[in-house]
Amino acid sequence: MSYTEDMAKLEALLFVAGDPIAIDDIGTLLEISRDEALGMLEQLKRRYQRDPLSGIVLREIEGAATLATNPGLSNTIEAYYGKIREQKLTDAAYETLAVVAYNAPATRAEIETVRGVNSDSVVARLIERGLVREVGTLETPGRPALLDVTEQFLLDFGLQSTRDLPPVDLMMYDTLTKFTQQTTKESQGVAPKPLVIAIDGPSGAGKSTVARLLSEHLGILCLDTGAMYRALGYKALQQGLEPSDPEAIRAMLAETTMEIDLSDRVQRTLIDGTDAAPYIRTPEASRAASDISVLPVCRDYCVRIQRELGKRQALILEGRDIGTYVFPDAPVKFFVTASPEVRAQRRLKDLEKAGTHTTLEEVLKEIEERDRQDSGRELAPTKQADDAILIDTSDMNATSVVDAMISAIRDNEREQPAWRSYGGGCV
Ligand code: C5P
Repeated sequence: MSYTEDMAKLEALLFVAGDPIAIDDIGTLLEISRDEALGMLEQLKRRYQRDPLSGIVLREIEGAATLATNPGLSNTIEAYYGKIREQKLTDAAYETLAVVAYNAPATRAEIETVRGVNSDSVVARLIERGLVREVGTLETPGRPALLDVTEQFLLDFGLQSTRDLPPVDLMMYDTLTKFTQQTTKESQGVAPKPLVIAIDGPSGAGKSTVARLLSEHLGILCLDTGAMYRALGYKALQQGLEPSDPEAIRAMLAETTMEIDLSDRVQRTLIDGTDAAPYIRTPEASRAASDISVLPVCRDYCVRIQRELGKRQALILEGRDIGTYVFPDAPVKFFVTASPEVRAQRRLKDLEKAGTHTTLEEVLKEIEERDRQDSGRELAPTKQADDAILIDTSDMNATSVVDAMISAIRDNEREQPAWRSYGGGCV
């Protein structure tokens, strides 16, 4: 390769890298010695210096080189970045910022593990806006960059330091630490599993409310699995089918599409393209859900979707069989319950809010009937997993349940660090 071509390559490399490239790495990439790389950098630097019309300069920083803008153009650059800063941050950007702020220094792979999606372009935009920066590299294969939030972030969010952030649970931090310890395994081809939190329990125990609060607290999406069985039960009723008839339901499922949309942090359970939410909170839909969910064909249908979602991103799932059947390896499991009377009172309140009038006796009867059916069925009955933490919410409000969950997680971590190891692999 000729010297001129190598010079062109060097310039192109520095241009696309954006960040400083180590001089040794330049040598390796261009297959030249370190001294030759230094000579070419010097030549390129002079070329920019000689050209009075150039907006670019070459800078050498601690054994690395980078292209930077001519300091004389700072007003123009500031005007541009000022404009970028005025743009609204997306939800993905806020989520990524939170992951970095609470877990700094964090690698891109760690951010991806918590968010469940590739976050490289979001990170690049946050770096561009001056809210995130690279602060070093991790001493593992590949030497991934470590990211932290910037002073600009603290200024924009009115914080003196990241210690002033509201006390989101350290669980994510712990998850990430474990993940980091596993990077060697990962580099040997073991894919990381996103975090799954299982919340099981009977109806009216307060699972949905605490799952939603915990989801907001941890910045992890949340899936109400009951809504899936309710939506299918409702469809069966609409079609005049008996929800407990295995053959009729098998045929119905063959013609059904179910999609779960968790964007905007609000679950939409789409049955054949229509959001089922407005129709599935009636006592009839509850009964139909309990009947249809007994059928193995229906459970297979829903569980497949639940596992798929849990594989893609960190997820809190609430239901009956999450910790025992859907994700028996989930590192965090709760079984939330309350006395039948308290649960009936809560259900009655919900029904009244939704405009359905009934009596406490009726609701209690229906709850006891559903309890019997849900915990007596053969496949995946409502059951506390051996390693789940039991929380009786009879005398607790939702906030104290979430607090109890967080302190249970911390206690477990302190007492038995292995509690959180996930299926023997990465978190
Ligand atoms: O939680 P929710 O009351 O909305 O659930 C409705 C019904 O769906 C339950 O009574 C139960 O029969 C069924 N279900 C289930 N497994 C789940 C979630 C709900 O069988 N994981």
